[in-house]
Amino acid sequence: MKHIAILGSTGSIGSSALAVARAHKDKFRIVALSANSDTGALSKQIKEFRPTFVCINDPRAAACFKTNFSSGLKIFFGEEGLVELVRQKEIDMVLVAISGSAALKPLLAAIDAKKDIALANKEALVMAGDLVMKRAKTKGVTIIPVDSEQSAIWQCLKSEERSDIEHIYLTASGGPLKDITRTSLRNISLSRVLKHPRWSMGKKITVDSATMMNKGLELLEAMFLFNVPLKKVRIIIHPEAIVHSMVEFVDGVILAQLSATDMRIPIQYALSYPKRLTGKIPRLDFPALKTLHFEKPDFRKFPCLGLAVRSAEKLGTMPTVMNAANEVSVGEFLKHKLKFNDIARVIERVMDRHRNITRPGLGEIFKADLWARIEAVEFIKRSKLKC
Ligand code: NAD
Ligand code: MG
Repeated sequence: MKHIAILGSTGSIGSSALAVARAHKDKFRIVALSANSDTGALSKQIKEFRPTFVCINDPRAAACFKTNFSSGLKIFFGEEGLVELVRQKEIDMVLVAISGSAALKPLLAAIDAKKDIALANKEALVMAGDLVMKRAKTKGVTIIPVDSEQSAIWQCLKSEERSDIEHIYLTASGGPLKDITRTSLRNISLSRVLKHPRWSMGKKITVDSATMMNKGLELLEAMFLFNVPLKKVRIIIHPEAIVHSMVEFVDGVILAQLSATDMRIPIQYALSYPKRLTGKIPRLDFPALKTLHFEKPDFRKFPCLGLAVRSAEKLGTMPTVMNAANEVSVGEFLKHKLKFNDIARVIERVMDRHRNITRPGLGEIFKADLWARIEAVEFIKRSKLKC
């Protein structure tokens, strides 16, 4: 029986992880849950899974939280509460499924507490990948990826030497705007952007998927997770999202991981690793599929891809800054306050103005993150980009 904490349990990944736990009650016990502000959904989860610990981040939501649960439940609040929660000795594994940079502190705390990590969040790695991976190595902690592409690469590398990697092929569905012309992107609506053809996910990652920044973040995520240089990672569009990524080795052999487009598959693998579990999960039907397609990504239509490559060339605090500017602009777009094409404009501007620090410590990373957020907000205001 593995004792699991789910950070971000009310989100898309969090709910899928609970579906996995529900299907394997004899294997996983949910001992901790956390949410930002959706206390309604959290209460339902508490009733069903009876965890020992919960954490609510948002102070207003926390103030209204009805605590008529069993007296055995310990409730934590805010960022500090989450850091405290992951240290509890009853927890074996922490699934980090919080969206955005808010995941970094609890992730580091879980590593320090020597918990096994199942990592869905990608922003924390983009922000501080070098530091996170070094700390995990020092503490002897394994970070098992949940993001489908990284899980695919992890599986392809299971019995291989890292030094034998020639290329990593990071596949991308192309996102919800793949077949829309560049000119139509100018006035594209939020509702159109949120219609992803293959994956049902949280709003932030769906917008990232539309700008292709999601693949840019994953490019950095792969570099840090597998310790490979930029020149070894290739992005390839694969609209069916069946091949979740591939690794080419020095002898020209390519291993790929294929499965249905369902996040429960990589989540379950991360939770049960190194074992595989059976379950009622959709299977592939090759004759029904008939063909799989692959294309080059369009860097002109999706400038965020080029920005991610630029930040991967520079490293240091540049990925932190890119990620922070992206979080601010996507947040504004989601509030109908910024146009779709201005997301990349804001990120580029903030990156242009950043003085990169090549080997940042954690303090410098948080400082760069804050600087980029302020810079992005001011640029949006100054340039009258606000809708
Ligand atoms: P989501 O928006 O659906 O859920 C986010 C969860 O985090 C919610 O439970 C929310 O309450 C919590 N949260 C948000 N801000 C918080 C804060 N400041 N403090 C504490 N908790 C907070 O997001 P998602 O789609 O589930 O994605 C989660 C992470 O996993 C992201 O980093 C995303 O890039 C990554 N990911 C998601 C998918 C997917 O299919 N959804 C696939 C691969 C990777
Ligand atoms: Mg992914």
